[in-house]
Amino acid sequence: MKIKVVYDNEAKSPFQSDWGFSALIESDESILFDTGDDGKILLRNMKKMGIDTSSIDKVVLSHEHHDHTGGLYSILEKSMEVFVPKSFSKGFKKKVKERASLIEIIDRKKISERVLSLGEMGMDIIEQSIICKSDRGNILITGCAHPGLTDIIQKAEDHGDIEAVIGGFHGFDDFDVLENISLIVPCHCTEYKDKIKERYPDKTKDCFAGLEIKV
Ligand SMILES: [Zn+2]
Ligand SMILES: [Zn+2]
Repeated sequence: MKIKVVYDNEAKSPFQSDWGFSALIESDESILFDTGDDGKILLRNMKKMGIDTSSIDKVVLSHEHHDHTGGLYSILEKSMEVFVPKSFSKGFKKKVKERASLIEIIDRKKISERVLSLGEMGMDIIEQSIICKSDRGNILITGCAHPGLTDIIQKAEDHGDIEAVIGGFHGFDDFDVLENISLIVPCHCTEYKDKIKERYPDKTKDCFAGLEIKV
């Protein structure tokens, strides 16, 4: 399984950085988790990574913030399935339904053989996170972690130990929670990247558009 960060606040040349997040999970199926903010940047970064957008089978949107959903229509094709939290606005869901298959998530749900949504979480901003079952173990991927990374990790642990966590951690500062996770990749909106790195220097990896993780 490969996880490719295609959109992030940070980027390594020749990729472009921008506020937002998107990562492609390549395993039994090709699943795009979030789509960044700007479709043009998303497409350019994907092209530079050698990703053909027509190879994407499914799209998972973590939450209805533009920096995660803005690139959707630049890659969307009729054959794709789009998984969104059921609480997404009617207008958003209608627009997706007109152009592709919409699947609304409430509780935990299998997205593919190896990818599982943890279901809707949070109070104000409803968000879904996913677990990817890799050969190395369970990889947790978050969009912004608005419901709180601690709660998300706790829910994810119902499915076994977490090997790696990748994505936006937002204002998460309960660093003890990461103790048993072997690989930490704080991306996008993570406020305390430096502190996480300071605490776990050996197992924290920088996140940037163009990053490829083999698991
Ligand atoms: Zn965000
Ligand atoms: Zn957000």
